[in-house]
Amino acid sequence: VSPSLYLSARVAKVGDLILILAEDRTAARRVEETRRDFVANVSHELKTPIGAISLLAEAVQEAADDPEAVRGFANRMARDSERLSELVQQIIELSRLQSDDPLMTATEVKVDDVLAEAVDRCRLRAGARSVTLTVAGEKGMVVMGDREHLTTAVVNLVENAVIYSEAGKKVVVTARRAHEAEDHFVELTVSDNGIGISAKELPRIFERFYRVDYARSRANGGTGLGLSIVKHIVAAHGGQVSVWSQQGQGSTFTIRIPEQPTRDDSEAVELDSP
Ligand code: ADP
Repeated sequence: VSPSLYLSARVAKVGDLILILAEDRTAARRVEETRRDFVANVSHELKTPIGAISLLAEAVQEAADDPEAVRGFANRMARDSERLSELVQQIIELSRLQSDDPLMTATEVKVDDVLAEAVDRCRLRAGARSVTLTVAGEKGMVVMGDREHLTTAVVNLVENAVIYSEAGKKVVVTARRAHEAEDHFVELTVSDNGIGISAKELPRIFERFYRVDYARSRANGGTGLGLSIVKHIVAAHGGQVSVWSQQGQGSTFTIRIPEQPTRDDSEAVELDSP
């Protein structure tokens, strides 16, 4: 018996018989605990920027006759509000992804388009940090899903790769086909030779709000939700995300999603079959 087994029991007397109906509520309880933890984490995370904004508002009032100081406080307020809105947006996205039907509409999505769009969105940040961003690998693959969500997943991985790399390093995004028995997959990897993640921290990085280095994550506008969002997006597409990392050497994140045969592929399969 699991030490954390949680049973709810009802007792009824029918004639001389005593009936005990025991129900295993362990899974339901775990869901409830996870929900409660999430709400507690969200409240804590929201309090930080809200607290900072209200302190800055007070500082603005007190420094009213010092325009230079007011400008400084106002800039910090703008940064904190931006952070707050990013956090709220990510929390909403995560809770949508945790619903029963996270992909409202699944269509054929060209992997090339997803990678081009994702890299485009990260170019500015990579340039600002002098990190080179390149895309390599196979072309012409298609998956079933939501193009915007998939782009978000790749953006989150590439942004992390850029943020956790020093200037002058390279980030490489690769696409390739993989298969296991009859199942065909699209494998996307995002590799960096940045700071890496220790073996101790590695199992926890996909948890909501988990950061290895809080200060560094925060300084780069990180919320600790990026990888959790990636995990849910990939799961909604019937895929998996995995990571290899070595501290001081770099990290490689791999997304694997079932490949959708394109019309040309399916014709080829039909022609080849007896
Ligand atoms: P954050 O918003 O803090 O980046 P994520 O959920 O995206 O949150 O990532 C969780 C943590 O995993 C990060 O805070 C960082 O410590 C670590 N991490 C993620 N990607 C990388 C990477 N490519 N290299 C090193 N550390 C990483």
